[in-house]
Amino acid sequence: MALIKACDIMKMADQGGYAAIGFDAFNLESIMYIIETAEELNTPVILMIYPAMKANMPYSTFAAVTKDLAEKASVPVGLMLDHGPDFEDAMAAVAAGFTSIMIDYSHLEYEDNVRLTREVVKTCHALGIDVEGELGHVGIAANEADYTDAKNFTEVDKALDYLERTQVDALAISIGTAHGNYVSAPNLDMERLKEINAVTDVPLVLHGGTGVPEEQIREAISLGINKLNMATGYNLKMYDVMKKYIVEGKGRPRATDLLLGTKEEIKEYIRHAMKLARP
Ligand SMILES: [Zn+2]
Repeated sequence: MALIKACDIMKMADQGGYAAIGFDAFNLESIMYIIETAEELNTPVILMIYPAMKANMPYSTFAAVTKDLAEKASVPVGLMLDHGPDFEDAMAAVAAGFTSIMIDYSHLEYEDNVRLTREVVKTCHALGIDVEGELGHVGIAANEADYTDAKNFTEVDKALDYLERTQVDALAISIGTAHGNYVSAPNLDMERLKEINAVTDVPLVLHGGTGVPEEQIREAISLGINKLNMATGYNLKMYDVMKKYIVEGKGRPRATDLLLGTKEEIKEYIRHAMKLARP
């Protein structure tokens, strides 16, 4: 089927009481395995690329490959820029064919976040593209304070104002997660999530899914998370499986054998994540 908006996939997840996974991908295999696994599990999925991964795959190539595979797929597939850093980069992704944009000004002062996010939303909505914004700041998991200090968390009483003024279609919130590898076990602020979910009416997004204890992910989904972002774990898993394959001397020393020989074990990681988000 044709690509659909990420926010429509999140709404489906909301109605079904689960979370869709937003996976960061970066090459043909990483995109293909996600879509194949989503088809096997009959679940919608959102493909994303992180701006730094442009070095691995240009936006236009990423969009063209994802669009082609989505059209052949039996499940809805979304295509989103992850953490667009500014208006120019977001528009580069739009021009390349992305149908959904995440814009991240969460590191700025509140008023700047509102103003700059609104500019992106205005243009994107005119083009029929949905936008995810971020309120509170989801930082780096290597810095413990980023996910333990509540000053980085989403302020409940600002959430409604942010949504009304920016008109974003989905909201990434900060409740105790961070990006990358955690240096201690995260402990999500479920009360804050409940309160945010009670005052907002757009799908809520949890970034930094890799390394969050599974029972906390399940609870967060039951309390209103409709999109769970996974990036680090997938990237690391692919590396680890390939390394093991090479060290064990499996197959002929050819890239084609490496890619085919490691495919199932990598897909098993995706399958596990998808089942966690949609029990
Ligand atoms: Zn993120």
